[in-house]
Amino acid sequence: MATGKAITDGETIKTITTHYIDGAFVESHGREVMDIIKPTNGTVIGRVTLGDEEDTRRAITAAKRAFVTFGRTTKEERAAYLRQLHAAVSARIDDLTAAMVEEYGGVVQFAKVIVESGANAFPAAEKGLGELPLTQSWGKTTVTMEPVGVAGLITAWNANALFICLKLASAIGAGCTVVLKPSELSSLQTQVMIECVVAAKLPKGVFNVVIGRGEIVGAELTRNPDVAKISFTGSVGVGQGIMRDGAATMKRVTLELGGKSPTILLDDADLSKAIPAALILALMNSGQACAAGTRLLVPKSRLEDVKLAIHAAMRAFPVGDPADPKIAIGPMVSQKQYDRIQSYIRKGIEEGAEVLTGGEGHPEGFEAGYFVKPTVFVNVKNEMTIAQEEIFGPVLCVIAYDTEEDAIRIANDSRYGLHAAVLGTDIQRARRVASQIRSGRVVINGMTDDPDAPWGGFKFSGVGREYGQYGMEAFLETRAILES
Ligand code: NAD
Repeated sequence: MATGKAITDGETIKTITTHYIDGAFVESHGREVMDIIKPTNGTVIGRVTLGDEEDTRRAITAAKRAFVTFGRTTKEERAAYLRQLHAAVSARIDDLTAAMVEEYGGVVQFAKVIVESGANAFPAAEKGLGELPLTQSWGKTTVTMEPVGVAGLITAWNANALFICLKLASAIGAGCTVVLKPSELSSLQTQVMIECVVAAKLPKGVFNVVIGRGEIVGAELTRNPDVAKISFTGSVGVGQGIMRDGAATMKRVTLELGGKSPTILLDDADLSKAIPAALILALMNSGQACAAGTRLLVPKSRLEDVKLAIHAAMRAFPVGDPADPKIAIGPMVSQKQYDRIQSYIRKGIEEGAEVLTGGEGHPEGFEAGYFVKPTVFVNVKNEMTIAQEEIFGPVLCVIAYDTEEDAIRIANDSRYGLHAAVLGTDIQRARRVASQIRSGRVVINGMTDDPDAPWGGFKFSGVGREYGQYGMEAFLETRAILES
């Protein structure tokens, strides 16, 4: 396969010098070389040459050329490509998982689920495409849903394969061609993903990848008039910049941004189930998850029992080597993320929150990499910085409430609205509470997923939706033809 050219295994260092443009691996025009660092011990495991504006423009030109034909493909043709992509990604689940563990420090027990969810995005898109009425007619009017054009896909580092699969599945289903700019912290994972797409045999120019910095490659995608749409997963600040700068060329945008998700523990909850569920929600993906349930809202009457239950349940969340299937919490992705989390833990203590478990510094025996102590704060007020800002690490804030109405008010008292959870025994009551939470998804009694259900945020958590039919609509324009 052509990929041998992109990664050369030297002694121990992997070297990536190419982008994938117009159906071929091409040497980078950009010359900046970035180290790929293993988060478990801080050693350099690879080097990647980053692309520049010229690489990006070449990729956009290829995607624009390919769109002329690909934009006119039928539902059946696109469905066939989605099936090929599903087969190709499914065949590489283990390789993608291994790359996520090595390069990002994702724990293998979670990384595999993430990658499998990515593979499942393709059949979900195929189903969504099948159900979407791309053509409707009445009288002398015909309404069609047309692919929006060349799409720029920009992803974050914390679940790279999933984001690429989700965005690519929607774009291909809609008939768009793409230029992908993955997080520069995900280059090894991206190489495996490129190999998958090569194996799926998409037409030349339909899928292009430029690895590079956001402010260079991402910015070129955002301002280039030949890119019709940006689908972005990342931070609020960058998302706002894309919306603002994209306005100059009237970009369509989908923004999947941050969260500070509430988990409401109702007073009838069975703590033996609810606390482990709340900790999974908070600590999944080592806390580096946009959906992480980092505010646990607990009835005052049950606070002391909850503290005891958290102490006991934390034993099931050991820190360690992410390749070990018994480990629940791996390192943070980078020194920058490690420092960011430490500063939030310090801030929480300064603001008067009490450390129930964890705290500052490395866990004992894990001083070499970017490991942090999973930390649970109690006595947290919702207005504290640690309860309002996204920390993006394994830090949980326990906030006490008086009544159900109080819990709903606190849950909604956030600029974010991506994800939420309700834990309780009376299912009717849990549903009633869930229906009052202003966020894109609410799960009841534990983390769960559905590739057909929309994903996306209210408020600062974003604009638009991904997954299945909802995700595909974001890559389509509606055209009406009327005969007189
Ligand atoms: P980030 O915003 O720093 O980077 C995301 C991507 O944007 C990267 O590829 C980056 O290179 C690129 N970028 C940076 N500057 C850019 C610019 N000026 N123009 C265009 N692109 C630019 O985010 P991150 O640190 O990689 O990821 C963490 C954030 O992502 C968190 O806030 C998290 O909540 C969010 N996230 C959201 C979801 C979701 O589905 N809502 C999922 C995962 C992560």
